[in-house]
Amino acid sequence: MPVSLRNISPLSSYLPATPPPLIIAGPCSAESEEQVMATAVALKEIPEVAAFRCGLWKPRSRPEDFQGVGEKGLPWLQRVREETGLKTAVEVASPRHIEQCLKQGVDILWIGSRTVVNPFSVDEIAEALRGVDVPVFVKNPVNPDLLLWIGALERLNRQGIRKLAAVHRGFSVYGSKPYRNLPVWEIPLELRRLAPGLPVLIDPSHISGTRAMLPHVAQAAVDLSFDGLMIECHIEPAKALTDRKQQVTPQALAKLVRKLRIPVGKITGDDEMLHQWRKEVDLLDEEILHRLGQRMEIIAKIGKYKRNHEIELLQLERWSQVVEDRLKKGTARGLSRNFLMKLLNAIHEEALRVQRTNT
Ligand code: PEP
Ligand code: MN
Repeated sequence: MPVSLRNISPLSSYLPATPPPLIIAGPCSAESEEQVMATAVALKEIPEVAAFRCGLWKPRSRPEDFQGVGEKGLPWLQRVREETGLKTAVEVASPRHIEQCLKQGVDILWIGSRTVVNPFSVDEIAEALRGVDVPVFVKNPVNPDLLLWIGALERLNRQGIRKLAAVHRGFSVYGSKPYRNLPVWEIPLELRRLAPGLPVLIDPSHISGTRAMLPHVAQAAVDLSFDGLMIECHIEPAKALTDRKQQVTPQALAKLVRKLRIPVGKITGDDEMLHQWRKEVDLLDEEILHRLGQRMEIIAKIGKYKRNHEIELLQLERWSQVVEDRLKKGTARGLSRNFLMKLLNAIHEEALRVQRTNT
């Protein structure tokens, strides 16, 4: 079924013009008026920052975790707007959150990943927004389900929301390390292909989970020509009550932005596609290498076990089963037997070397 998103407004119709890349920054959670104001005042100095984000109602895994300050934070955001001129953006998960945000003049609402997974919740939110001309950002659902993401966008658009954008924050996948949430770039790229007028932002903070990884993911987002970045920023990250490891100070954000390589001028037509495909290939290769590294780590453990139990390193029967299974799966994906055999032999050779040298 074709994607049905009508009359989507560009980001420039409700966000100020900034030098690229467009950034929406702010703390994971509002914690105090001082923390919110100090962060916002510092962010105002970064020309790329177009809006201030923060969570008031926090969807947390455990009930004993900090759940956010709730509506108490709304007047703080009014101060942010008045004193810095920055637009404000808040996560909403229910009609009551929406009512409170709209009453206090929040400029942009976003729907978080945990809410987007539930079409009942999205429908309730969409109904509460009927006839309201407010920008709404829709994060991807926690699971890698493109249709569920598109469905949420369509539900909002049907109720008349045109200032609509998607935010890609990666997917919660078992074993997604080194990422907190695996990027699976082909999903937001496919969204862009299916819904060409829809702005798509990237949230490198929730993809990375750590400050160290942030520049790498932000650069990948810029290289793939997404429309902007949402980055978590705290005046004192070490004291943050949520997502402490991934938040950066406004100064660190300014530095990160200065180091990004921004493509100058657009290459046209086919060239741009070529550039994007190459970038996708680079990212996939990185994932393959990362997985091969993980595979060898386990192989080394098996080697040690064999040595301790005086089992022979080479187990021909097991290896024949692996070859047979991988050939079947690989050929089903269109890979040739010849290529698969070379690949499997190279992997096996390296595995035996690792077992011999690491035991
Ligand atoms: C957030 O942006 O702080 C947040 C909770 O994000 P997500 O919904 O992507 O987990
Ligand atoms: Mn967060």
